Amino acid sequence: MFKVELDALFNRVGESLSLDRDIDFSELAGGENPLFPEPVRLTGTIRNTAGVVYSDAILEADLHTVCDRCACEVVQHLSVPMVHTFVTEVENEETDDFIILPDMVLDVDALAGEDLVLDLPSKVLCKEDCKGLCPTCGKNLNDGPCDCKEPVDPRLAALLDLL
Ligand SMILES: [Zn+2]
Ligand SMILES: [Zn+2]
Repeated sequence: MFKVELDALFNRVGESLSLDRDIDFSELAGGENPLFPEPVRLTGTIRNTAGVVYSDAILEADLHTVCDRCACEVVQHLSVPMVHTFVTEVENEETDDFIILPDMVLDVDALAGEDLVLDLPSKVLCKEDCKGLCPTCGKNLNDGPCDCKEPVDPRLAALLDLL
């Protein structure tokens, strides 16, 4: 947890605060096989430009996961923007675009964690043309073909039996 008080930022146009820290997200996701075993680097600024307080920062992370097709281990670098506008109150209910901080305190790490999780790729491949595993014998087909025959369509198999 890393909380920053943004009073000075909200109260003074032109004020800025630089963000530069390593965040431990080893317990954020993945359980025993953390998706982010290494620290995630956050750099950027929070600033007040013409009365609007916003963050312009980026998270650099190495995602440790497995290939969606062949299940081999994959490390994929992610660059996740952390760009938000902060307000102390909203006048209408359209709050989606803003992060409301009534007490002008921002939990930087919590917000970074949310951004990281929301930006996780739904599918990761070890390489574009990963051949995956044979559905019959389970061999990793990137290492070469297996000895299984091409799977036969059951309708065709019935026909072959008749012949
Ligand atoms: Zn693969
Ligand atoms: Zn096979």
